[in-house]
Amino acid sequence: MDSMKIAMLAPPWIEIPPPGYGGIEQVVALLAAELTERGNDVTLFAAPGTRSRAEVLSPLEGPHPDEIEMAVYEADHVASSFAGVEETEPPFDVLHDHCGFTAFAFADRIDTPVVHTLHGPFTEETSAFYARHGHKASAVALSRYQAEQAPAGLDVVAVIGNPIVVGDFPFRDQKDDYLLWIGRLNDDKGPQRAIAAAREAGAPLVLAGPVQPGQEEFFARDVEPHIDGDRVRYIGEVGDEKADLYAGARALLMPIRWPEPFGLVMTEAMACGTPVIAFPEGSAPELVLDGETGFVVEDEHAMAAAVGRLDEIDPARCRSSAEERFDVAPVADAYERAYRLAAQRARSPIR
Ligand code: UDP
Repeated sequence: MDSMKIAMLAPPWIEIPPPGYGGIEQVVALLAAELTERGNDVTLFAAPGTRSRAEVLSPLEGPHPDEIEMAVYEADHVASSFAGVEETEPPFDVLHDHCGFTAFAFADRIDTPVVHTLHGPFTEETSAFYARHGHKASAVALSRYQAEQAPAGLDVVAVIGNPIVVGDFPFRDQKDDYLLWIGRLNDDKGPQRAIAAAREAGAPLVLAGPVQPGQEEFFARDVEPHIDGDRVRYIGEVGDEKADLYAGARALLMPIRWPEPFGLVMTEAMACGTPVIAFPEGSAPELVLDGETGFVVEDEHAMAAAVGRLDEIDPARCRSSAEERFDVAPVADAYERAYRLAAQRARSPIR
């Protein structure tokens, strides 16, 4: 198939690949590399410090990891990137937008067709936003659950999960004795519920991840008092060492109470042959094959009970399921199809 000329718009907050926490940045890193590897001409508009096999353009002077979602930086980054896209000759076939709301809201103001990945959940505010502007770009949902939540007027053209490189994760079938919880430490993600479940199961728990700005009070009240350096250990934000952390864990606990649109940590755990025990929220019941790659359970008590059944889960099956479903190759195939569809539709006279 013909190669394409692709502009990829990353958020302006964190460089790519992300040094630590950074779900979207990680997705953009893998996709840009894979699409370039396949012979596409990819230009990545991203925060300064970004490294990629794609050509990189960074309109802003620095990254803004402590000012995430501050409109002034998003608007500047998007407007400058749009100018860069419009000045490019020959023109891009498609602009793949991963960045907040600004680009989507103005997607009908540039000639390049826009494909927008829905990285966040639908709330009252974002649903109203997408209902109003939904016709301006082709949206990609991360899960069937998320696609079902889409408001009328939003043009969801495909369901494509986030990719990982399964081969980059070490497989281990002999596990250590700890349970793992990893992610942003906030109420939705549930580190406090993981503590309760692990305690009831009588198993040690390792917590990893950043306490993001605004979450200090939650952490001090609901998590910190339980950290004892033994049964409950908090090791802060982790970088490359996360792979061994996943591989050694008996299970990843995912006691979420929010409509998680995807949940990369579940795929990363399975890639390491580590089962996932998740609450049935958002995409979790799609990502975790109940009884096959982990368990989907209703609450902390059921989570504790499921820890006792982990020997029913085959680590090799977790790994192969991750390869089949989450590896970057099938994900890039699906995006190439979505780009072609968007480009075709932009050329159609009905538009
Ligand atoms: N992560 C990391 N270090 C940490 C905590 C998280 O590298 O200390 C990574 C994690 O491995 C995953 C991403 O951050 O790749 C989080 O993405 P996910 O989709 O699970 O959650 P969200 O985007 O909602 O934060």
